[in-house]
Amino acid sequence: MGQTLSGSRYELHVSRSGAAQSKSQDYFTIHAADLEESGDPGEDLVGNVHSWEVGSTVDGPGIRFVAFLTGCFLRCQYCHNPDTWHKNNGRPVSVARAMQEIRKYAQVLKISHGGVTLSGGEPMVQKAFAMQIFKRCKQLGLHTCIDTAGRLGDRMTDEDLALIDLHLLDIKSGDPAIYEQVTRQPLQPTLDYARRLSDLGRPMWVRYVLVPGLTDGYDNVEKVADVCAGLKSLERVEILRFHQMGRDKWEKLGLEYPLRDVEPPSPELAERVRGQFRSRGLTVY
Ligand code: SF4
Repeated sequence: MGQTLSGSRYELHVSRSGAAQSKSQDYFTIHAADLEESGDPGEDLVGNVHSWEVGSTVDGPGIRFVAFLTGCFLRCQYCHNPDTWHKNNGRPVSVARAMQEIRKYAQVLKISHGGVTLSGGEPMVQKAFAMQIFKRCKQLGLHTCIDTAGRLGDRMTDEDLALIDLHLLDIKSGDPAIYEQVTRQPLQPTLDYARRLSDLGRPMWVRYVLVPGLTDGYDNVEKVADVCAGLKSLERVEILRFHQMGRDKWEKLGLEYPLRDVEPPSPELAERVRGQFRSRGLTVY
C-alpha cells in the first residue's frame, strides 16, 4: 500500500483538487455524496480518510492513534480542518488497511491506557466505516473514542454506542441562534444526542471552543453549562481556547476566514468561563 496518510491536524493537507473545487463551486454546500451512508460492512468496506497521526495526548485518555475521516455537515467559523468537509477530500482506505496500521501500535496504545480516536471532519458521516473500525479495535482490546458534534447522532444505534468507550462531544454554543451562526446547523440534534448518551450511561467529555466575541457571552455559556450539569455520564468539560492555527487552510482553499482578526481568549476570560462550569460542580479543564 503506497498511501502516506500520516500527518498532523495543523499541517497543510489541502489537495490541489480541493483548492480548485473551492473556487469552482460553493465549498460550503453539503454535497450529495456527503449525505449518503456507505453500505456493506466488512473488511473490504472503503472509507475516506484525510490523515492519521500517532501519539496524540489531547484526543482522549493516554496516547491515541487518531484517524481523521472526511465529511462534515457543519461549517464552523473556527474550523481547523475545512479540508475535511467533503468526503472526497479524503483518500480511499479499506477497513483492513486501517486496521493494519492500528495493529502496529496496539501494544503501546494499551500500555499508555490510550487507544483509537476517530475524528474529522465528522466521523458519523461515514458511520458504517467508523463502526467497522471500532468493532475491530474492541476485538483487539483497544479503548475507542469518537470526536463528534453529535449532529448525526440519530444514525447511531444503541449497539453502535456500546462499541464506543468515550465520546468527545463538541457543543459549540448553548444558545440555538448562536449555534447556527457558528455552525450553519441547528443545535437541537446535538442536545438530543447528549441526553441519549446520558440516559444510556455512555461516558462523555464535552468540549467547548471559546471564541472571543462569538461563543464567550455570559448567558450563552450559562446555557451550555446548564446542559452539561444535566448529563449524568459527563466526566469532564474541556474549554478549548480559540487560536489562529486553522487560518492558513482557509486561505489555501480560497475561503474567507471569518475570524482572521480575532485574538485568542485572555486567561481571565478563560477562567471566567471555567468558573461558570465549575459553579455547577463540573470537572473542568
Ligand atoms: S464540526 Fe469539526 S470538522 Fe466540522 S466544521 Fe466544525 S470544527 Fe470543522
